[in-house]
Amino acid sequence: MGPARLRSALRFAALLGCVAMPGCLGGREPVPSAPGLLLVTLDTFRQDHLGCAGHPDVRTPHLDRLERRGVQWPDATTAIPLTTPSHATILTGLPPRAHRVLKNRMRLDPAVPTLATVLQEHGWRTGAVVSSKVVLGPDFGLDRGFDSYDVVEPADRPASGEGALTAERAIQWLDGHGGPGSLLWVHFFDAHLPYLPPAPWNALYNRDYRGDLDPSTHAVQDDLRQDPAADPADIRFLAAQYAGEVSFLDLQVGRVLQFVARTHPATVALVTADHGEGLYEHQRYFGHDILLHETAVRVPFLLAGPGLPQRTSRLIPDAARTLDVAPTLLGLAGIEPELPMEGRDLPAEPPREGDALHFVLESHPSRDKSPSIYALRTGAAKVIWAGRRQGREAYDLVADPGETTNLADRELREHEIMLEDLQLDLRTLPPGAALTVDHERGGLDAETREALESLGYVDR
Ligand SMILES: [Zn+2]
Repeated sequence: MGPARLRSALRFAALLGCVAMPGCLGGREPVPSAPGLLLVTLDTFRQDHLGCAGHPDVRTPHLDRLERRGVQWPDATTAIPLTTPSHATILTGLPPRAHRVLKNRMRLDPAVPTLATVLQEHGWRTGAVVSSKVVLGPDFGLDRGFDSYDVVEPADRPASGEGALTAERAIQWLDGHGGPGSLLWVHFFDAHLPYLPPAPWNALYNRDYRGDLDPSTHAVQDDLRQDPAADPADIRFLAAQYAGEVSFLDLQVGRVLQFVARTHPATVALVTADHGEGLYEHQRYFGHDILLHETAVRVPFLLAGPGLPQRTSRLIPDAARTLDVAPTLLGLAGIEPELPMEGRDLPAEPPREGDALHFVLESHPSRDKSPSIYALRTGAAKVIWAGRRQGREAYDLVADPGETTNLADRELREHEIMLEDLQLDLRTLPPGAALTVDHERGGLDAETREALESLGYVDR
């Protein structure tokens, strides 16, 4: 273990409060000079649907096992609940207004370095297996730095069970290229609308549904949103279908993790998501693009591998952000590049005090009538703001984690100050958006429009 890695591991042990525990760092393999890195992003995956996050019903045994081998940051948040911008943040360590990919299908500036370009420059083998051409295809510049960029697309959408193919292709790559000095990024898309888990997962949480809702099109979600007399049984059915996707995905991730454990044990795995999913709790909405509530922005954040501490209590009280993924993985690779990353190398840095937690969230939906929305989180306090005409929301995430009581009407001084801070932040950092590839091409082609419509990303 080199001095930098030893320092990093000791700091991480201190973070976990286990420095004084005999054997806390001893008895494990030393951190290899160049471990393998496995980054898994679970599209549309709610943090509270993990068994290891305490969900009482949904089963995620493989992710729970990963958590038992490593650590979990339960308070982890995305920067933006949109697939292309969020993955740009995950790969660059920059917030959306710094990398300028603010909407789906915008292209990342070729001058911006990414986790993959840095590792590739250091001689690493790099591969990606992603599961959505329409929002993560090679057009958007996130393929830079990867020796291979495999886009898994089912022949027809809506698809069911496509994660099995994604897992298979990930295992193929690992078989040929995995091990020390390699990075594989695997992206699963199954939990995204429409919720169509394959059998038997489609019946796993739907024990008593007698309705006739067809979840195979996005239209059904729109219909439910516009129907004030929507049947609660239909709502429960769709939420149960989503939970079925979660458990199906858990198995597919488990296949990849088991292969790695068997063939390349010196691999560090980081599992997170680009965003969560609203399941009708807010704005009668199934989806994520127009929400900044915790259902849509809180994400799994699990890290495990050789050289990382393990202990009985694996919950890290500090907050993590998807902004921290690239700096963390580069730190584990022992690389300290001169990069303008704003995220933190989590194992190497001490935890922050609760009040020090302060960050901006944003979303820029592509639906024509949906405004951009912003939020500021300071400790447990959160303010959501969608412009002067749209009103605002304010919550205390400790007293009300489900964000059921909007405190904005009480006009608390704390929230007034947060709103002023947020508006000041937006004025001092004006968004300078990148172009979408469709803008560059003069418009959406019919095939792409159809694909986006099926995912609910543009108005029908
Ligand atoms: Zn997504």
